[in-house]
Amino acid sequence: MRQLRLQLTEPVGFVPTMGYLHEGHLSLVRRAKIDNPTAVVSIFVNPTQFGPREDFKAYPRDTERDLALLEKASTDVVFMPSPEEMYPPGCDSWVEVGEITKQLEGASRPNHFHGVTTVVAKLFNIVQPARAYFGQKDAQQVIVITKMVTDLNMGLEIVTLATVREPDGLAMSSRNTYLNPEERKAAGVLSQALSLAYELCSEGEMDASLIRRKMTELIRQQPLAEIDYVSIADAETLKELDTVNPPVLISLAVKIGRTRLIDNIML
Ligand code: AMP
Repeated sequence: MRQLRLQLTEPVGFVPTMGYLHEGHLSLVRRAKIDNPTAVVSIFVNPTQFGPREDFKAYPRDTERDLALLEKASTDVVFMPSPEEMYPPGCDSWVEVGEITKQLEGASRPNHFHGVTTVVAKLFNIVQPARAYFGQKDAQQVIVITKMVTDLNMGLEIVTLATVREPDGLAMSSRNTYLNPEERKAAGVLSQALSLAYELCSEGEMDASLIRRKMTELIRQQPLAEIDYVSIADAETLKELDTVNPPVLISLAVKIGRTRLIDNIML
């Protein structure tokens, strides 16, 4: 990759992914290709961002299909390192971002962001992009990576694009493939809860605990759903709010059967 990098036309736009691509990923690739003469996409299911009881082994993979989709989207380079190449024996340097990695996803998945920031920093060092593209779907990830880039003077631009959704509102995710038809229907409850929060805020409701309670009540009506968290937080500190005062991140993590899904809206 380093050798090939020397021959690429500047500037390079970069889209890191874990593969099993869908329209959400492809929207990032298309935008990278519009903004830059060269688009590099990585496919790497990063073992260090999965907890010991999480789905690293089961995570869906389909390289042939991914490559066909990326070719159609005019991707210039696809970087697919192996776990051994990214983490050779003895590799023991880590990138840690502070307080904001302890809330929300960080609270539920203790080592998750430690793995994310480390692999993204490594990928940035290898690919040396001028711009990197991330989805709003993983809102905390974008906030954490933007902070890492600023704090560590990485000197690239982070571009965030809107969440791409299925017709019923479900945010596209590689993990949606785990859902059986009944669960797939039930999964609509995540975006329904966010729409409810949006409506309440539009009507002038400012009481964050009331909005959290109404979202929780709606999700509890769905028997297949089990709430991990429902959050109304300051979009910069990610601390929970009493009063809705934009910029606000309304986010949730809900298990549908055995599949943990996340979604959010930014106000
Ligand atoms: P992943 O393969 O899940 O690591 O995701 C790779 C990138 O695609 C991340 O920046 C995600 O935020 C983004 N992404 C995933 N799902 C969506 C979606 N539904 N809409 C927009 N971006 C997404």
